Parts: sequence; C-alpha cells; structure tokens
Amino acid sequence: MFKSILVANRGEIACRIFKTAKKLGIRCIAVYSDADRDAPHVSMADEAVHIGPSVAAQSYLCIDKIIAACKATGAEAVHPGYGFLSERVEFVEALQKEGIIFVGPNAHAVRAMGDKIESKKTAKMSNVSTVPGGSEAIVDLKQAEAEAIAAGFPVLLKASAGGGGRGMRVVERVKDLAAAFDATRAEAKGAFGDDRVFVEKYIVQPRHIEIQVLGDKHGNVVYLGERECSIQRRHQKLIEEAPSPFISAQTRQKMGEQAVALAKAVGYDSAGTVEFIVDAHQNFYFLEMNTRLQVEHPVTEFITGVDLVELMFKSAAGEKLALKQSDIKLNGHAIEVRLCAEDPARNFLPATGRVRSLSFPKSQRDLHEQREARSEGVGGSIPPHSVRVDTGIEAGSEVSLFYDSLLAKIITYAPTRAGAIAAQIAALNATAIEGVRHSGAFLNHVMHHPRFMSGDFSTAFMAEEFPKGYAPQMPDPRTIEIFALVAAAIDRHSNWRRQHISGQLKEEPYHFPSSRIVHIGADKISLKASGARESGFVVELHTETYEIDTDYVLGHNIWQGHINGMHISIHVQPILNGFTLAMNGMSADVLVFTPEESKAYEMMPKKLERMDDGIVRSPMPGLVKQICVVEGQKIFAGELLCIIEAMKMENQLRAENDGVVQTIKVQSGEIVAVDAELIVVKIAE
Ligand code: ADP
Repeated sequence: MFKSILVANRGEIACRIFKTAKKLGIRCIAVYSDADRDAPHVSMADEAVHIGPSVAAQSYLCIDKIIAACKATGAEAVHPGYGFLSERVEFVEALQKEGIIFVGPNAHAVRAMGDKIESKKTAKMSNVSTVPGGSEAIVDLKQAEAEAIAAGFPVLLKASAGGGGRGMRVVERVKDLAAAFDATRAEAKGAFGDDRVFVEKYIVQPRHIEIQVLGDKHGNVVYLGERECSIQRRHQKLIEEAPSPFISAQTRQKMGEQAVALAKAVGYDSAGTVEFIVDAHQNFYFLEMNTRLQVEHPVTEFITGVDLVELMFKSAAGEKLALKQSDIKLNGHAIEVRLCAEDPARNFLPATGRVRSLSFPKSQRDLHEQREARSEGVGGSIPPHSVRVDTGIEAGSEVSLFYDSLLAKIITYAPTRAGAIAAQIAALNATAIEGVRHSGAFLNHVMHHPRFMSGDFSTAFMAEEFPKGYAPQMPDPRTIEIFALVAAAIDRHSNWRRQHISGQLKEEPYHFPSSRIVHIGADKISLKASGARESGFVVELHTETYEIDTDYVLGHNIWQGHINGMHISIHVQPILNGFTLAMNGMSADVLVFTPEESKAYEMMPKKLERMDDGIVRSPMPGLVKQICVVEGQKIFAGELLCIIEAMKMENQLRAENDGVVQTIKVQSGEIVAVDAELIVVKIAE
C-alpha cells in the first residue's frame, strides 16, 4: 500500500477520501484554490498545496498543477474524487507517465467508457441490454428518420459526448425531427466541442437504477447491488437509495451480471458504476458507465458494509480483490439526500453566502465504526438506526458559485425502507444551516410525500408531483400544536434565565398557572403552564395536558426534547417576539405573548404583506442568456420567462402568476446586477 495520497478534489468528497486514508495510516495531501484556503479538506490534510485561483479551470482542472503538487510533496498516488479530472483520460495518462498511481481505472477503460456511442457499442458486443436505437453517429436527416422510425417514437436525440443531463432532446413526431436534430447538434458542438448525435428510443417514465462494480488488476470484478436514483430534477439526482424498492432479486442479478460482463470487457480495475434505465416491466437498458466513485456511493457502503474508497486504494496498489461475489450480501436499507445550496422555493436557484452556524445530526456510526460493527467484513449487522453525514463545510465557510452546490450528504440506514425514511426525517429535523439557503425543507417534504413513501415513482417524479415547482409548506394542525408547545417552552426557558440574571424581571414570569397566547399566522392558541418538572413543565392546551422535557441550551438552533414522551427535534431561529420554527418540511413564525400583550399586539397596525408586484428581478449577477417571451404575451404561472447565466449555470426564471408581459427591460447578452428589474408582468386578476 502506498504511504501518501493526494486528493485532486475539494469539498465533501475530499474529506471523505481523507477519512479512509487516515484510517489506513496513509499521509494525506490536499490541493486548494484561493476560495478554499480555509476549507475543511485543507485543515484535515497533513499537507496542502495551493494550486491557483478560485476558477476551477485555473486550479482543480489543471493537470500540470496537480502533477507539480504531487512532485513537491512526494505523493505516491492521486485520488480524483468525482467531477473535475476524474474521468479525463489525459489525466490518467499524464500521471502514469510520471510514475504516480491513479486511484481509479486504467486509461483504456476510461477511454472506452467515456463516449456514449463507443460505450454503447462495447455494451452491445458484451451482450449487455442497450436502449433500442442506432449505435452510430447520425450523418443526415434521412438516417435520423430511418433510425427513429425503427426504434419507434418518442425518441431521444443524444450527444455522444454529453454529460450532466445536457445534450438530450425528446422528439415525439417525425415532423419535429429535423429541427431537433439541428438543435441537438448545435448544442453538442457548443457545449462539448463534438457534434456527434445518435438516436435512442425514449423510455417513458423509466427508473434510473445503477450497479456498483469493483474490479482489480487481476481480472476480477464483482457487483455490489444497485442504487435507485430516480428522484431527479432536470436529470440531476436529488435522492438515492439502496436497494431499489422496485426490482426483483432476479432483475438485480441479471443487471449485476451484465454490469460485470461490461466491466470485464474493458479490463475494468477499480470502483465504477454502470447506469441503466428500467421500464415498468423491469426491462433494463444500459445508459452509460461512470468510471469513478459516485456521489451516492455511501448507500452502497451501508448495505454491503464495505468501504469503497479503501477497496479503490487496494486495487490501485495492485492488491487482489478480497471479495468473491458470493461474499456480498445486501442488508437493510439506506437513503441519501443531497443537501444543496439552492432555493427550492425559487426554482432551485443556486444560493451563496457564509455559513453562520450549522448543526448536523450526530453521526451515530462513522465509516470506521460501521466496518467494525461487521466483524466479518461483509454481511454483518449494523445497529437499527444509523446516520452518516458527509460534508465539506463548517461554520464560517463561504459557499460560492465557483463549485457545485453540494453542502452535505445525509445518509441514513435501517433494517427496512420505512425505517430509513423515518431516520432521514429525524436527521433532517436535526439539521440546521444558517447563512445560506438550502434544500433541507424540500428534502424533508419529499420524505413525507406519499408517492415517495410508496416507492412507486419514476424519473418523472418531480415533473409529476411538483409541476409548478416547490412552495414552502405551512404547518398542519398537529404541527401547529407542537410549534405552540415548543415556542412556549423556549419562552419560559428564556424568561427563567432572564430572571436569574440580576436586575432583570423581578417577578417569577411563570408562576403557575400562567397563561400564554401563541400566534401562528391567523391561529391563536391559548396555553396554560400548570406546573414545573425537573427539566421541563406541564402545559394545558385546549383540553389536553402535555409534559414537556428538554435539555435545550438557549441559543442553539435545534430544540430537542420530549412532548409526552415523544422525541422531537425542531429548528429554531429567534425573531422579534418569538421564533421561526421548522420541522418535517413545514415552517412558521411563532409569536409568544401574555394575554395582555396578545391583545395589544392585535391592535397594532399590521405591516402589509409584500404583494407580488409583477416585476421579475435577477436573483444573481449574471448574463441575460435568453428572453423567452415578448411584450404583450399572455403567460401562465410556471412558464419560462428568461434565462440568466451565472458561473456557467443556466438559471431559468419562471412566471410566479398568470398574466401578461408588459415591459421587457433588458436584452439578451446584457450583464445584469442582482435584483435588476428584467421583466414587468401585469398579473391576472
Ligand atoms: P448524462 O451523461 O448527461 O448524465 P445519461 O445518459 O446518464 O446522461 O442520462 C441521464 C438521465 O436522462 C437518465 O437518468 C434518465 O433519467 C434520462 N434518460 C437518458 N436516456 C434515456 C432514454 N433513452 N429514455 C428515457 N430517459 C432517458
């Protein structure tokens, strides 16, 4: 085994790789850009090398700089993580030339799987089931038509060099083919510098299910079950789980064996993922192979008990795979959510900011313990409910637009899928990040969604269940009661503290019984505190009595405690006269008053809610890429109005209401500042 490793990456994945390296006693070397000077992956490493400006093209994507960093530190091996240089053949070859070990597959395998047309051909030759359609680049419209008709409409036009969900177009009818062909070709040329496009049958409402494979340099390859990644938005994964709630043991075995056959066909010798789409009848079709560690690898680690990074190190060092296929047993169920810096309520626009504070659920078992719990290595048991958090941020971290928006992955494990969902809800309720907007409440809402819970969904889940996007959820009646009780508990707690600081509040604010009125939106809830307990108190609400117990420390952003014995975690943010509380994907401003204060508060003039003024503003500084409407055009809520490009990301701005476009205040190609007025809409009555 090598003695030192350089991770050519940043963020959570760099930290995750270092964790395993440390466990194995390998010296850790980080690289970092200007923006990452103080990042956790840098402080975690034994040594760190600055490799340039924040823009990835001038730092994390520079092969020369990574190699120079290896030479300067004597790194024997490089782990590329995912993204950046992880699937670049030139990088693999450059390292090889310098005698540095690449912790990943050999250059031949990376090249063979790097191109969609070529990899599909290899798959076909290895008897792997592929999507019906052509396996050559299309030269003209005639060929496109012939192949589309043979495959059957609808079809998908796909760029061979495509990736990240870009360079794909669905075509429903033959008459739309010409325009779509030209558009896909132009897009592929522009985005990937390669205009080869091919035709594939469009599988309606498929699932995305992928197989984890693992190979060594001695010709051995095994598969470690599948991951279900159908919950996607614009072809980007949001939530992943293992095993899939859909496929049968036979389908799993068939997919696994085909994935292994494909891996063997290209001499695959590391961890890799073979992606399939699966139709409603469990027919599956090869999509592509990712020749690297995937973001969602932890769910596989939970259900198999292996440390994939450790096994990648061992394969790279030339060790023989210690696992046979028959050693691999799948146990329990794991779910991962990707907590991202984005605003789900504003069409998932990327968010930035400085992390003021953060709380994560305690990782009950980290990777290390997870392995030890399975003394026999594979197939042992993990305790009923486990949480793992993989993150690369800490309080004070600056979240910028330079890199991807992933803040943390929260992974839960339980014997059953329902248990893993319940653990995920508890974990999300115990997660709070202050300072940047994130997708936590949305993910929590999905965990409660009946369709998600049923396991009966496809890649169309988001389009079908959130056709108009996501709106923050108001609390239901039961949650309103819990919010009222917790608000009263925190209020009592802070009054008690104020009273014990000399000079403040002369009288016992909660002499019992004592009444409070809690305002939540239009609801007013009367509570009567009727007695104290050692670590809490008793409250009467309506006709019920509740015992509240907590060891909450004032000022923390998560309140944890018990209400009548039921454990509760709630996100708390202080506001004037009360708190913003959030739980289970629902949130509300909760104000706590004495009866007299409540009366006075109601007599105060209310600030009018800011109405939607119909002005569409730029959510970030950027370039107006496209205006999609014209003045006078009738529009509907959810309709695309314009596209703003910022940091290579295209952000679609959509209408919030039905109406008519009154004025367009900018032109495409214009640079705009944050909050610049773009389009004025006259909102329909
Ligand atoms: P990328 O390399 O851009 O990630 P993929 O080929 O992996 O592209 O496809 C990404 C997603 O697009 C899949 O997860 C699936 O949701 C959808 N998709 C791809 N091919 C098809 C197809 N033939 N039919 C239906 N959906 C598809």
